[in-house]
Amino acid sequence: MNFHEYQAKQLFADYGIAVPTGRVARTPEEAVDAAKTIPGDLWVIKAQIHAGGRGKAGGVKLAKTLDEVREYAKGMLGTRMATYQTAGVELPVDSVLVCEGTDIAKELYLSVLVDRDTKSITFIASAEGGMDIEQVAHEKPEAIKTLHVNYVQGLQPFECRDLGFALGLTAKQVGQLTKIMLGLYRLFNEKDLALVELNPLAILTDGNLAVLDGKINSDDNASFRHADLTAMRDIRQEDETEVRASQYDLNYVTMDGNIGCMVNGAGLAMATMDVIKLEGGAPANFLDVGGGANKERVTEAFKLILSSDKVKAIFVNIFGGIVRCDMIAEGIIAAVKDVGVQIPVIVRLEGTNVEAGKDLLKNSGLAIIPADDINDGAKKAVAAVAGQ
Ligand code: GDP
Ligand code: MN
Repeated sequence: MNFHEYQAKQLFADYGIAVPTGRVARTPEEAVDAAKTIPGDLWVIKAQIHAGGRGKAGGVKLAKTLDEVREYAKGMLGTRMATYQTAGVELPVDSVLVCEGTDIAKELYLSVLVDRDTKSITFIASAEGGMDIEQVAHEKPEAIKTLHVNYVQGLQPFECRDLGFALGLTAKQVGQLTKIMLGLYRLFNEKDLALVELNPLAILTDGNLAVLDGKINSDDNASFRHADLTAMRDIRQEDETEVRASQYDLNYVTMDGNIGCMVNGAGLAMATMDVIKLEGGAPANFLDVGGGANKERVTEAFKLILSSDKVKAIFVNIFGGIVRCDMIAEGIIAAVKDVGVQIPVIVRLEGTNVEAGKDLLKNSGLAIIPADDINDGAKKAVAAVAGQ
């Protein structure tokens, strides 16, 4: 699950990490009221969406007067914003964060994540902040410092100091960095997070470190024990189809191709997408209907796939292990009749009761294109799309 910047900063503050004074606002007047409570004469107005890259997209503005605060908030609220991180999707700007403006001397990068290679919680830091970390990693890999935390002994202050000095910080800044890192490490563990990113962690002109941006991603497998985090969920920032799929316990991810896929089992779903690519096509989604696929789930899955008008054909690839192919065939027939599918449906069935399943499909009177195996099915799906 992803969080808004204002929520991330609230969590940082809860863990003793200093963040710039700020308040979230949902109307231009609320933004002005928020600014009035924040001392100083420079404010930053920041669009709250689940994506970075807002600076370049006009979602971060510096205001010098209350009129500018109102004007910038008005310009952002109620609009939709796309950044280079949203893959063409425009996210709704329902709120803005108004915070105290600061003078930046230099921007650093700091993140915490789980490194699977070393099986450790790892800090990644760079003195080249404000830039995409991927770009730094590519162009100047030596600028990136990593710290793998030994899980038994936990993060040690001396390790934070080593990292700070390696980044070229002064002794005072190293002390501030240590406090930030110890707080982040505790937050990361206690809240079962998957990623925390401060970009930028800024050095201000007065020499102090300041957390100017915060991104958090939490581990959904642990959401059952973090009601405080799930209460922060903003489903308006999430993909609509994926939200609906999660309500039906379907594992669904939207992709940008035009062949809808309905598959049972995550591994087979991945293989199906690979083979579609191999045949020169592009999948419109990842969809695992699960081992216990029944008529209702199959119908719901069809509706989900069809809710995108980008989908020009559907490839159903089912291996009947626990489920029986004849029951799946009944589900497909019922779904196609129920939903009124207008596009080609290619079906590959294999496994328990496969002959009975194939007979049902053949005798259903529906224009279902049967496939012999995964490659044949992918080929037919790609051909069906190409012919339109
Ligand atoms: P992002 O583009 O979505 O990652 O949003 P950020 O919060 O990182 O803001 C983008 C850029 O705006 C930062 O890299 C800073 O250069 C600038 N910025 C953000 N907050 C402040 C601030 O308080 N003062 C100044 N002068 N610039 C800021
Ligand atoms: Mn940022």
